[in-house]
Amino acid sequence: MRLSGKTAIVTGGAQGIGRVIAETFAREGATVIAVDMTKPDYTCEGVFGYTCNVTDREGLKAFVEDIVGTFGKVDVLINNAGITRDGLLQKMTEEMWDLVCDVNLKGVFNLTQLVGPLMIDQGTGSIVNISSVVGEYGNVGQTNYAATKAGVIAMAKSWAKEFARKGANVRVNSLAPGYINTEMMKTVPDKVLDPIRRKTMLGRLGEPEEIAKACLFLASDEASFITGHCLSVNGGLRL
Ligand code: NAD
Repeated sequence: MRLSGKTAIVTGGAQGIGRVIAETFAREGATVIAVDMTKPDYTCEGVFGYTCNVTDREGLKAFVEDIVGTFGKVDVLINNAGITRDGLLQKMTEEMWDLVCDVNLKGVFNLTQLVGPLMIDQGTGSIVNISSVVGEYGNVGQTNYAATKAGVIAMAKSWAKEFARKGANVRVNSLAPGYINTEMMKTVPDKVLDPIRRKTMLGRLGEPEEIAKACLFLASDEASFITGHCLSVNGGLRL
């Protein structure tokens, strides 16, 4: 039980990668708060569903106060909520840019600004920002998404420096998945996915469970000397 006694918040926990992370963490002994803009419906023991939009700063403040009042502490934060609004640069509207930045970048800033200080005060904590292979290498039609996913890597490095000052054992890392079988991928046509499968050394898309296991490693004490790192989990896509 690698997260026994820990309280973990997972954003975007209603479906996809976030949902599997929440369930994996609960099986490892954590009390998990799965928060999403639509209320997550969990029957899994140890997972509690909350509704909040990561762009809503006032709502997040009330959410964190509620969590601290109910569960007493936050040991782990997984910044996973994310969206895409794809288009070539010439066709990308300001709304597409703003929405993706608001959720994927500012949403991570919003919640970490509330949870980070709690972790510093308690002297321990682990935060993982979910980035993407697109944040590491860029992608056609994803100027907005690539910028945000590169941004969360840089934010994790900055917080790894800030949060460990004055002796606090607060680690901050990011995790960059390759292409993973989730709802998000259902919008991507096979003519795009087939070449990705071919370029991936392991010859397939990843499964959410494979991201959850890597996230568990970073969140747990098994990664006790790892901070400011970005872990690529992509089946060898970029070799
Ligand atoms: P998904 O669309 O299946 O799930 C995302 C969840 O985030 C949804 O439940 C959604 O309701 C929630 N969400 C969206 N906006 C929100 C907001 N403003 N506030 C709160 N919750 C919000 O996506 P996924 O494939 O599970 O992706 C999860 C994360 O992994 C994202 O950050 C994504 O960018 C990243 N990622 C995914 C892939 C992939 O191939 N699926 C690859 C690399 C990175």
